[in-house]
Amino acid sequence: IIENNARHLWHPMAHPAEMQAHPPRIVNSGEGVEIVDIQGKKVLDAVGGLWNVNLGYSCEPVKKAIRDQLDELPYYSTFRGTTNSPLIELSYELAEWFKPDGLSRSFFTSGGSDSVETCLRLARQYHKVNGQPERTKFVALKKGYHGTHFGGASVNGNQNFRRNYEPLLPGVIHLPAPFTYRNPFNTTDGAEIAAAIGRLFEDEIAFQGADTIAALIVEPVLGAGGVIVPHETFLPLMREICDRHGILLIADEVITAFGRTGAWTGSRLWGVKPDMMSTAKAITNGYFPFGAVMISDKVAEAFESNKNSVGNIGHGYTYSGHPVGAAAALATLKETRKLDVAANAAARGEELLAGLKALQNKHELIGDVRGKGLMCAIELVSDRAKKSGAAKDVVQKVHDATYEAGVMVRTSGANVIMSPPLIVTAGDVQTILTALDAGLAAAR
Ligand code: PMP
Repeated sequence: IIENNARHLWHPMAHPAEMQAHPPRIVNSGEGVEIVDIQGKKVLDAVGGLWNVNLGYSCEPVKKAIRDQLDELPYYSTFRGTTNSPLIELSYELAEWFKPDGLSRSFFTSGGSDSVETCLRLARQYHKVNGQPERTKFVALKKGYHGTHFGGASVNGNQNFRRNYEPLLPGVIHLPAPFTYRNPFNTTDGAEIAAAIGRLFEDEIAFQGADTIAALIVEPVLGAGGVIVPHETFLPLMREICDRHGILLIADEVITAFGRTGAWTGSRLWGVKPDMMSTAKAITNGYFPFGAVMISDKVAEAFESNKNSVGNIGHGYTYSGHPVGAAAALATLKETRKLDVAANAAARGEELLAGLKALQNKHELIGDVRGKGLMCAIELVSDRAKKSGAAKDVVQKVHDATYEAGVMVRTSGANVIMSPPLIVTAGDVQTILTALDAGLAAAR
């Protein structure tokens, strides 16, 4: 298995040479919040799969729903009017779930990148249907992450996910991230940073012409870019500017949608109603590749009232609503609500954040600590005053030593990211902190 892994498996976002320098992380089983690797080592999964296994690895109701649906109907398409029953039930449940966000219609996909792509395409189509075909440009944030498809890559705010695929969509405008630790505004005041980004947005709108801009896409808490938590005024200000200029607001909630930040959605955390929302990941607890785009009445009605629009949306996938995914999502939603995991994410998240801040006092290596709910990160630095990112081998050492100490964390650049299942206990949070403490000590 180890040889074939090295020889035949093309690993996303991992260089073969780097992987050969470290023991392979081959996971064979999982239970609760723990995974077991091929060597039989049991570790607490503080990555939560990939921000998605919110209910842990033994969520029996979701497993059962998948098994039962496979027996009942393993596949039927949602295409040109055909559909399947679990999907209709799911769209009803999602409308209930996202009512406070003002989102009532769902379009289904097989993952986050598909959901983002659907939002971008819908945004352009919405303006065309509304008689504003020139509104084609997108606005996004530096450090934002929106997946791997060409539209998503075009709005991504990290050059590593862009430059190898150019030319991308023309006319994408990137605003600075609402990042207190590092920003071009010479301040650490979140409200000032939010206002400054608002002024830049207004300036771009004046320069480009509002009638050329389709949508702004943002993550309510930026995830893969290093867990950047905006000031509470940021998203409301973005909403207000979008409204004033007829620009749609797309909330990319592939990570934040089902309780991870301590609120049921990231948009609700900031009191904002987006026009569209991309979701995926935790919608099936990671057990089935699935996603949903949630659509507001305003956007849906523009399509439905216009006879010239190409159906609700001019695209669809073979898996625009897999019945097994729908059954998995229905069971996940029920269990997510029953266990009230958002409240646990808020409480355990505060403990984790406080513990990480205590580690910062102890370890010079930690330059910054950030988090909201169970989305947390530490940024490793080689020099605190200069805020210069730690060397790659130091970051890897922290990762490996933390793993040896019994906890899987994720690294991204100089960031160590923690996004454990939302069912973690206070004891699990201590386990994460103790292992990380050992990992940081080993890398010193
Ligand atoms: N948007 C965001 C905010 C994400 O975090 C991700 C994945 N990490 C995506 C989109 C893409 O999702 P997927 O990997 O399921 O295609």
